Amino acid sequence: MTSEFNIIAQYFTKPTEHTDLGVGDDAALIRVADGMQLAISADMLVAGTHFFADAAPYDIGWKVLAVNVSDMAAMGAQPKWATLAIALPSIDDAWLAEFSRGFFACAQAFNVDLVGGDTTRGPLTISVQIMGEVPIGKGLRRDGAKAGEDIWVSGSLGDAALALAILQNSYKTDANWQEDELSKWLQCLNRPQPRAMLGLALRGLATSCIDISDGLLADLGHILNASNLGATIHLEQLPVSFYNMNHLDDQMIQQFVLAGGDDYELCFTAPKSKKTEINQLSQQMKLSISCIGETQESAGLVVRYHHQIITPHKKGFDHFD
Ligand code: ADP
Ligand code: MG
Repeated sequence: MTSEFNIIAQYFTKPTEHTDLGVGDDAALIRVADGMQLAISADMLVAGTHFFADAAPYDIGWKVLAVNVSDMAAMGAQPKWATLAIALPSIDDAWLAEFSRGFFACAQAFNVDLVGGDTTRGPLTISVQIMGEVPIGKGLRRDGAKAGEDIWVSGSLGDAALALAILQNSYKTDANWQEDELSKWLQCLNRPQPRAMLGLALRGLATSCIDISDGLLADLGHILNASNLGATIHLEQLPVSFYNMNHLDDQMIQQFVLAGGDDYELCFTAPKSKKTEINQLSQQMKLSISCIGETQESAGLVVRYHHQIITPHKKGFDHFD
């Protein structure tokens, strides 16, 4: 019978890159470089709430770390260390092997050391705490936006929410799609690519930043609240990969693009004078970055489609709604 300590040794102990003491002691020891602040964040995934209990364990492992890396990106922080607390209903070696393979694939992709954690029996729940570094005072916060700035979004919106709706059979449409399109949307849902490089590049460029995990309207709303501003965004400027805007139906616009969860794109504000620099950055990084609207003094978030004002049904995902 595999014990807790065998699980830790077999699946969760790997050499580290920038850690003095990692897995195996009562605490890890790390060193933060001079002039840096430690950025710390945690995200928990619960089976049945954040992923299907029978989802591919590799994808669960990737995603639980990727969503945390995304929080570092949103802060302009370089991710470095993570801890992993996991409750398992039983010991399933095949599941653990795939889970840890996915987790460490993400750890390697973003140069994160797994430095500790906790392993226990219980309903499948996985919690990761991530730590990163950002030069003192250079962190990208939610409260730094000013009126009259551009609002930008990386990548495309709604792909993951569309994939989820298709999996749940809750998207009723006459539109049909190709297998390769569906697999691309599923990839967005299952293996999100956190915008770590973009987050770092936005230091000193963006005035505020957030990662879109609960839907554009909800997350942009957090920036506006924190910065005491309103905004207008233009539907026709939103980056949507899955359909020509003329064919977007109401469910697509409202549920997937404006309020869809799990995008893990960055939404940020920047002075209009930075437009060229941001477009150049987009080209260098081969990542689309779209200007979707602008901030204003007057409160409220207005969504326009050409001359029409759209009234959103729901802003985004809230676990307690
Ligand atoms: P303690 O009882 O002192 O809290 P544990 O027995 O829980 O220590 O864990 C032993 C070591 O293994 C610790 O260094 C802990 O951080 C690490 N650890 C436990 N579970 C995990 C995990 N899932 N991933 C990574 N490290 C883990
Ligand atoms: Mg101890």
